[in-house]
Amino acid sequence: MKLLDESVVLVGYLIAAVLFILALKGLSSPRKARRANRLGAAGAVVAILVYVLGHDIQNGLWIALAVLVGTAIAVPAARRVQMTQMPQLVAAFNGVGGGAAALVAVVEFTHGPDAWAGTVIAFTVFIGGLSLTGSFVTFGKLQGIITSRAVVFPGLGVLLGLLALASIVTAVVMVATGNLLYAAILLALGLIIGVLFVLPIGGADVPIVISLLNAFTGLAVAGSGIVLSNVLLLIAGTLVGASGTILTMSMATAMGRSVTGIVFGAFRRVGKGGSDAAAIDRPVRTVTAEDVAILLEYSSRIVIVPGYGLAVAQAHHAAAELAEYLTAKGADVVFGIHPVAGRMPGHMNVLLAEANVPYESLVEMDVVNGQFKSTDLVLVIGANDVVNPAAKSSPGSPIYGMPILNVSEAKQVIFLKRSLNPGFAGIENELFYDPKVSIALGDAKATLSQLLTAVKATA
Ligand code: NDP
Repeated sequence: MKLLDESVVLVGYLIAAVLFILALKGLSSPRKARRANRLGAAGAVVAILVYVLGHDIQNGLWIALAVLVGTAIAVPAARRVQMTQMPQLVAAFNGVGGGAAALVAVVEFTHGPDAWAGTVIAFTVFIGGLSLTGSFVTFGKLQGIITSRAVVFPGLGVLLGLLALASIVTAVVMVATGNLLYAAILLALGLIIGVLFVLPIGGADVPIVISLLNAFTGLAVAGSGIVLSNVLLLIAGTLVGASGTILTMSMATAMGRSVTGIVFGAFRRVGKGGSDAAAIDRPVRTVTAEDVAILLEYSSRIVIVPGYGLAVAQAHHAAAELAEYLTAKGADVVFGIHPVAGRMPGHMNVLLAEANVPYESLVEMDVVNGQFKSTDLVLVIGANDVVNPAAKSSPGSPIYGMPILNVSEAKQVIFLKRSLNPGFAGIENELFYDPKVSIALGDAKATLSQLLTAVKATA
């Protein structure tokens, strides 16, 4: 039974759309992000409520059951997820969104659409399927279930080209005949292409793929909006598609990449051998927390470079305390923030904000890069790729072209990490062997706690 008038439903949609837009705007600032998240969630609740109350809903029980199952899985998953696993969660949620759009389109195809609606349905089925498997392969890469390196094999490019061609032919036949079998084949092709599309993307490029797939899911959802003549789905899908595209472009720029280079680069590398440097047995300088405390004592300008390891070790509070203590003692201490440090955009900003580091102490890459020459000591805490000079000097490297923090321009550099193991991109860091670089081996939180004790003892 319809409880709301058509005009009330449209006003409800308008309110939901405004809430979505305000949420997206707020999410660009760490200060407003929490509120923005709530606005977005409120928009989704308004959208669902006005839809349900404004339509003569059939299969209400099934819908309620689906909502219950989805909530039972998603709420504990979102609550339990560690900050370091957030990108995986985003990838998984994105995948199910694409899958849902594809299924809605398949169901709609059974209602005998005209040629235009059929074409949109074919597009939604294909993109939604691609987004589903692509996102889950990305999830596997980030979770370490699948290797995060590029997986390529000879002929992959040709195979993908043939599958793309087969998809176009299937879509044309599907629209012309109205036969559900072709919709199923197109869905299967989308699912296969999703896997083959993401497998060759590896290392530091994986995060960009999440936002690219996010843009694809947005397009698929917008497609379902057209198919179902639902203006709100169309708006929401377009917003997701546009914001995913903008994020993809800005992350690619931050990493000095082109999006086509990321997607098709791996094909060009087939047969050229791996880009990982072999681990070579060379001497490195190791230091203890006590040694670092003495070096800090003599440093008046200090830059702390946080990375993924800081998040894993949950060492952000200890790093903030150290910075606060050194600042109180008269040193000039800032945090140098690389745009893709950690495992998601803004990861370091969020962590350090949680540890009450003032926003003005977080200095973006472009600015801090101009300050290293006058820096006495750089403390690199759990970061690796974002300071790896291979990005400038090794054309075959997966991070080649990515702008880095030029820490080697400072007088001294100290890494706090557990081993000489590489970071996410899986490539060795030449910097470890630089004479002005030392490494304090150990868990970042444990080392920082010893360091704090030692620094206070030297006072
Ligand atoms: P990296 O992954 O390059 O390096 C992290 C380092 O942290 C590792 O070398 C590891 O060394 C160390 N580490 C891990 N655990 C601990 C611990 N408990 N204590 C101390 N050290 C620890 O991180 P970066 O932040 O430098 O670079 C981010 C990388 O991730 C880039 O390649 C980026 O492209 C990619 N990425 C970024 C995303 C984003 O949007 N920001 C999303 C997904 C990926 P060891 O094992 O020796 O301790």
